[in-house]
Amino acid sequence: MGVSEFDIIRDYFTTLGCARDDVICGIGDDAALLQVPPDRELAVSLDTLVAGVHFPLDTPAAAIGHKALAVGLSDLAAMGAEPAWLTLGLTLPGVDPEWLAAFSGGMGALAREHRLQLVGGDTTRGPLSVTVQVHGLVPAGQAFLRSAAVPGDHIYVTGTLGDAGLALRALQESLPLAADMAATLRARLDSPTPRLREALGLRGLIHAAIDVSDGLCADLGHILNMSGVGATLWVDELPLSAALQSMMDDLGRDACLKLALGAGDDYELCFTSAPENHEQVRQRCAEIGCAVRQVGVIGAAPGLRCRRADGSAFQPGRRGYDHFEG
Ligand code: ADP
Ligand code: MG
Repeated sequence: MGVSEFDIIRDYFTTLGCARDDVICGIGDDAALLQVPPDRELAVSLDTLVAGVHFPLDTPAAAIGHKALAVGLSDLAAMGAEPAWLTLGLTLPGVDPEWLAAFSGGMGALAREHRLQLVGGDTTRGPLSVTVQVHGLVPAGQAFLRSAAVPGDHIYVTGTLGDAGLALRALQESLPLAADMAATLRARLDSPTPRLREALGLRGLIHAAIDVSDGLCADLGHILNMSGVGATLWVDELPLSAALQSMMDDLGRDACLKLALGAGDDYELCFTSAPENHEQVRQRCAEIGCAVRQVGVIGAAPGLRCRRADGSAFQPGRRGYDHFEG
């Protein structure tokens, strides 16, 4: 007897994440029924990961499950929304019980950590691809919009930048990395941490926000365009991991800065906040135990300028990744 689509759903997906009170009807009917509180807005975001494009073909199944959800949660963080539910569109080349158990395990662990429940989806056969739609709740009128940056705002980023980009280069070019650094970097590429704690902890202080999925210059560029403002980035203030710093001699300092400015897949949060909030931003981040660094300022003049500490201009090089470019 072959395994049916319904067997897969029953065995691996009916109880993924936690059981939430606001799910009136979950998996098993024609559609899920979900209770949105009257004072909340529903934030919805969908991302597709295609094997060989969004993750290397040798990525472990648990990491694929984690990453497919993490990229969606990163979008909710960038809106200031608290995660609630997810749906899953899964296209599989065949049925591999071990792969499915690891995949749903990786996704389930992250779903439980952030209190989401899987409430529906679709399962089809074809080349491996994973689509996750996340649903989050945000107090009415309080979402972080890309259009909300104003001249004078400080620009901040969480964590460190350029690690996922360096991990990809290390894979492609066999860079001379120490084993522990290589493992740390690979984890940054395979299992990004959505910055929800930071985003929700900073509610009320953030003007505009975006998650860094395509590279800081490209993503900050979206904030600038939608807010009708410009910015100066201080390249010598970019937060770089120990792994990226260890490659400065081999790759050159400028190449490392270009990774931090241009490489995608880090899923850090970039946000702006009024200058008078600076101390409060630092204090709240210290309280919730997360790293945040000011990397520049918003200005009225359009365009993005990158400057070194001595004031000279820095050319960031390529901007972002576009699936349909070239
Ligand atoms: P329909 O034919 O009405 O679209 P399906 O047979 O596709 O229903 O799905 C049956 C139920 O299982 C639905 O509630 C659907 O949301 C759910 N489901 C299907 N695939 C998945 C999946 N990969 N993850 C979670 N739920 C799923
Ligand atoms: Mg269906």
